Amino acid sequence: MELTWLKVEEWEKNGGPHHGFLGRQGGRSAGTYAGLNVSYEVGDDPAVVKDNFCDLKKAVGLHERSIVTMKQVHGDRVIDVKDKQTKNAGEADGIVTNQPGVFLGVMTADCVPLLFSCAERKVAAAVHAGWRGTAAGIAQITLRHLRDRYAIGPLEVSVALGPAIGPCCYEIRGDVSIPLVAKWGTLAERCLDSRDGSEYLDLRRLNRLQLEISGVSAGRIFDVGPCTRCSPNEFFSYRGQRGKTGHQMSFIGWPA
Ligand SMILES: [Zn+2]
Repeated sequence: MELTWLKVEEWEKNGGPHHGFLGRQGGRSAGTYAGLNVSYEVGDDPAVVKDNFCDLKKAVGLHERSIVTMKQVHGDRVIDVKDKQTKNAGEADGIVTNQPGVFLGVMTADCVPLLFSCAERKVAAAVHAGWRGTAAGIAQITLRHLRDRYAIGPLEVSVALGPAIGPCCYEIRGDVSIPLVAKWGTLAERCLDSRDGSEYLDLRRLNRLQLEISGVSAGRIFDVGPCTRCSPNEFFSYRGQRGKTGHQMSFIGWPA
């Protein structure tokens, strides 16, 4: 199967986690979901989604294993996954594991997928950040979780931010910008751009800045892939398809 499979070069060179940001290419879904849709919750045929999952796992070398996902709710909850038999970790927007052989997945279609890696401790996390999760500071909450539960500090962490809607396309209104600026002040303002009477948000950058002010080295934060809305053949885009779209998978874990 031909896949769009983006990786962090630095992780690949340095014996990093098994990971990837997948696109919509490959897969068996049709119509508006065409390609490798992995979400059961968008109206696609569940039997086809199941086949997509199977094909995907084979294609990335995780045949016979599960990729643990979560019920993403645009919230601020981060939970631990210990058991590789788990298929769905429950309601959360961040999942963390310190178990080699457990692979974590996050599904997106414009929101930012974040993959966290701690090479020394073989800990991984997969996080979903739309504007609400970003407003809640889900990236920082994940860092706090790593510190509190695993005694891992920000300097031990490397984070990759995957394909998401870019500042070229993410037009927003006050219902988004006002709460963001209320919570994050100048940090949020640095990620807003006004042009032609409209306001645009750089969601990926705001997540990056949250990580940087929490102590993650700027050089260990990686932006991977293009704007999802600008690349309709490669990636699902909620905005680009007016809400009727599939979701792509990003995954991470340490081989057992
Ligand atoms: Zn764009």
